[in-house]
Amino acid sequence: MAKYIFVTGGVTSSLGKGIIAASLAKLLQARGLKVTIQKFDPYINVDPGTLNPYEHGECFVTEDGAETDLDLGHYERFLNINTSQANNVTTGRIYQTVINREREGDYLGKTVQVVPHITDEIKRRMLLLGQKDEYDIVITEIGGTVGDIESLPFIEAVRQLQWELPEEDCLIMHLTLVPYLKAAKELKTKPTQQSVKLMSANGVHPDIIVCRTEHPLNDEIKRKIALFCNVKTEAVIESADASTIYEVPILMLREKLDLIVLKKLNITQFAEADLTKWKQFLDKVRHPAKKVTIGLIGKYIELQDAYKSILESFIHAGSVNDCKVYVVNVHSENITAENVDEKLNGLDGLLVAPGFGFRGIEGKIIAVKFAREKKLPFFGICLGMQMAAIEFARNVLNISDANSTEMEADTPNPVIDMMQEQKEISMKGGTMRLGSYPCSIKERTLAFEIYKTNQIFERHRHRWEFNNKYLAEFENAGMIASGVNDQTGLVEIMEINSHPFFIGVQFHPELKSTVENPHPIFVHFIKAAKTYSAKDYPETIVSENIASQLS
Ligand code: GLN
Repeated sequence: MAKYIFVTGGVTSSLGKGIIAASLAKLLQARGLKVTIQKFDPYINVDPGTLNPYEHGECFVTEDGAETDLDLGHYERFLNINTSQANNVTTGRIYQTVINREREGDYLGKTVQVVPHITDEIKRRMLLLGQKDEYDIVITEIGGTVGDIESLPFIEAVRQLQWELPEEDCLIMHLTLVPYLKAAKELKTKPTQQSVKLMSANGVHPDIIVCRTEHPLNDEIKRKIALFCNVKTEAVIESADASTIYEVPILMLREKLDLIVLKKLNITQFAEADLTKWKQFLDKVRHPAKKVTIGLIGKYIELQDAYKSILESFIHAGSVNDCKVYVVNVHSENITAENVDEKLNGLDGLLVAPGFGFRGIEGKIIAVKFAREKKLPFFGICLGMQMAAIEFARNVLNISDANSTEMEADTPNPVIDMMQEQKEISMKGGTMRLGSYPCSIKERTLAFEIYKTNQIFERHRHRWEFNNKYLAEFENAGMIASGVNDQTGLVEIMEINSHPFFIGVQFHPELKSTVENPHPIFVHFIKAAKTYSAKDYPETIVSENIASQLS
């Protein structure tokens, strides 16, 4: 039987609950325990796949094709494990299950209610992963903030489990904010007290309180929180601002968070925390020998969370290459043929981001052309690969009206077209080509040099694909399909062999990069950018746009 840890949040959102949960998981894993994490989100969408990235940040995709909250990305990157459909549950999914059951007649004669039917379904899913005999500990992060109307059923489910599970199999950790009032020169504990009171009013009592703070908590503050919130002083944990999220496990180790958890859960068999690899990684992140500057061309750049996994993959790849990766965000809508030289000058590599819809695509195509012609390292992901194909068709093959049917339904030259199996689908939720698919890699290609194997598995999230009718023409002109799905013939990787580093992938490699396993394409891309930046380009003047983002 697994033991369960529930992580709730109070006072405000954006405290970094996912990072704290992942850090605790990392420490327990480093002590030899088998750990997984899941996230329960109180919104009504069945999954975040139908949400605009501006609403909820990036949509993460698991091996088994679940579209999930971006916190699952943190869990995978920290723990180096795969999560699955079962690791992300929303209110929508809970209700969908209960309503389907009601229609099937499972509750015949009964009034179906939030308590017990909805809470029973929440509890069933909370315990699910722990019943597989695969894990010693299952950590459940509850999305939202205590006090929100929509998180009430989840808090109620935790309340019930607190009594139903043996005491030593259940732990509740509450994350709050301890703000610093500059005028009073004081840290304030009242919001924490009130948030814990709110929890108590719902019948849930935290065992551990983690306090997010910009200033160190002294013993007196910790004692005060312990006194008012009914926990031991040692269970009041300081979570100070960190220079990188990857430092948080080390900070939590220093606060002995893992030891307090092990004590409450009565786990007596555990090893010394082995964080050697993690610390080596962190050391390189903190003290890089070199730097490279990469342009991230996207249309959601106002919100950093929209490209979370890409940004984290750069950190992993930077560490392997012993260099700091400065990411300069360039809004694709602002790139024109007239200003591209000025906008992109001074970069060591260009990544064209994934995306949906026509907004900003012409700017992406112009950026691809710039990278192709200037022999700047280029990496296109999903829509980025599709834009690279359109650029090549228009400017090398002289098919000036080449386009994707996503952007122009009746284009005469659909170089990118909707996948056959997608054409009959009208439902939008969870219906893209999702999750892990195999891809065969051709030898003597850049892709083979990167992966060093013929067979890979990568995760997908798309409806459109390269149109194989044009493949021979592309390959004759030097843009080849170096990775293909053997069963369907879908082109998964394209590259230009006369370019030092030009690769586009239909899948999302950023979803598989972890601290312990940085993704090889990102690693090679940064390596190519390093080589590029080492060259003597006296004419390279960093544009104002880039300089302002670097300062
Ligand atoms: N919109 C494109 C498609 O659906 C690309 C998707 C993506 O970049 N994830 O094929």
